[in-house]
Amino acid sequence: MAVTSEALPSDALVAVVSGGASGIGAAAAAALAARGVRVAALDLKADEVAAPAVGIACDVSDDASVRAAVGEVAGRYGRIDIVVNNAGIAAQGDITDNDDEEWRRVLDVNVVGMVRLTRAALPYLRESPAAAIVNTCSVFASMGVRRRVLYSASKGAVHSLTLAMAADHVREGIRVNAVAPGAVDTPWIQRVLATTADPRAEREALNDRHPLGRLARPEEVGEAIAFLATEASGTTGALLAVDGGIHDLRL
Ligand code: NAD
Repeated sequence: MAVTSEALPSDALVAVVSGGASGIGAAAAAALAARGVRVAALDLKADEVAAPAVGIACDVSDDASVRAAVGEVAGRYGRIDIVVNNAGIAAQGDITDNDDEEWRRVLDVNVVGMVRLTRAALPYLRESPAAAIVNTCSVFASMGVRRRVLYSASKGAVHSLTLAMAADHVREGIRVNAVAPGAVDTPWIQRVLATTADPRAEREALNDRHPLGRLARPEEVGEAIAFLATEASGTTGALLAVDGGIHDLRL
């Protein structure tokens, strides 16, 4: 079970990171903690959250669960300055493959989950002198990728949500940005590769599709999230690619 680092200064910023038990969310939590931010990782698997982040059980598809988790963070620290909307789930297939129930399930986590957490945290962000929201989007938001229609649509919505929220809250001093990773070497990708006939060959093919010649490391995305959350004081409404050039470079 994760524990709080009591050594951090009491006036340090406080962040909530959804999906903070694994992959990109865990890396973002670590990068924020390295900057002195106190981090609460909201996840279905709260027990798997690594210190110094504190794990708090939360299902972003359940509004009561999100409100309870945010209430617990605010009760513990008295403030919330940063929201990292990162929890997301995968979906594969073309337009015929996912039924209505699957569309609702994936959009409910990937899109409405971000709305729920932001809505619950907004009163605290409005009190913060350094309020920031970072959403985990994807290169799939603006690329045509075969057999990813539902997942791509969910990430397209995350990009639009980021722009609209940035516009709504810029005058309140709340910055809203997003990261757009390509393939990142997290448990997620490892699960996807494990379902293929030849995972090693699939990984090589994936490496080759990225002009940088490899998948991103979770830490590289975590650093980009922490940068947008704590250092990019003049930036709002931006989509920061961490994709090894897959979106913009045609080699
Ligand atoms: P991951 O599976 O390693 O981690 C996701 C975490 O989210 C897990 O800890 C999981 O328990 C948690 N989670 C899932 N559903 C949840 C829910 N309903 N409520 C609370 N927590 C929940 O995945 P990852 O690769 O780190 O992906 C994180 C984000 O990055 C996702 O939004 C994903 O779409 C995005 N992304 C990933 C990649 C990639 O290649 N890995 C690329 C682009 C974007």
